[in-house]
Amino acid sequence: MVTEARIKEIFESIQGEGPVIGYKQLFIRFCGCNLNCKYCDTDFEIKNSVTYNPEKLAIKIISEFNLNKIHSISLTGGEPLLHTDFINKFIYIIRPKYNNLKIYLETNATLSEELIKVKNKTDIISADIKLPSATGKDTFELHDKFLAQCNGVYTFAKIVFDENITPEEIRKCTNLGKKYSIELILQPKMIGDKISVSKNFIEATFDKFLAEYAKVRLIPQVHKFLNVR
Ligand code: SF4
Repeated sequence: MVTEARIKEIFESIQGEGPVIGYKQLFIRFCGCNLNCKYCDTDFEIKNSVTYNPEKLAIKIISEFNLNKIHSISLTGGEPLLHTDFINKFIYIIRPKYNNLKIYLETNATLSEELIKVKNKTDIISADIKLPSATGKDTFELHDKFLAQCNGVYTFAKIVFDENITPEEIRKCTNLGKKYSIELILQPKMIGDKISVSKNFIEATFDKFLAEYAKVRLIPQVHKFLNVR
């Protein structure tokens, strides 16, 4: 059976979010997403994408990038877990050639059954916890099921917030953090290259999280300040 995926873009840059911030990564952006967040500014549409099979993608990145100087391959989107057959075959090809290269999965953390299919090939999971106030949809239950499947893989949860965040959302996020003993990374929503909320609001929100749970960090999107992708 031929396994193919539509890839929107492939590029080298620094990771600008979360605890792996500052590392050089190769980003592979898959088309398509199962959510439709209000604040989404990512172009993952099929228009101008390229269809690859895993072998063709592996050949392309090996020939065009120096993977020895790259910390990790970021599988991003859209939602990469919509393409698990493809991802499994792709990692199967790449992994033996580059032992030190890590696989970084950047996911909206709603597709727990799909995660199970690729989990043992993944080194780092960046799992979003989406806030209903920011996305327009309550996905807490899905995040709970997803995080339950992440044990054994280094996982952190990223929370994009704006001025609409509610006390109940903070409680639900910190409960998930406690339940799975993971770091929560607070990320103020950006509008273009500007942080959308005031410094005072950010500090107050950070303190509210810390009052409930200690493993919380505040990390804005650094790549936007640097004006890189
Ligand atoms: S999950 Fe990510 S890519 Fe999908 S709509 Fe939300 S912000 Fe955009």
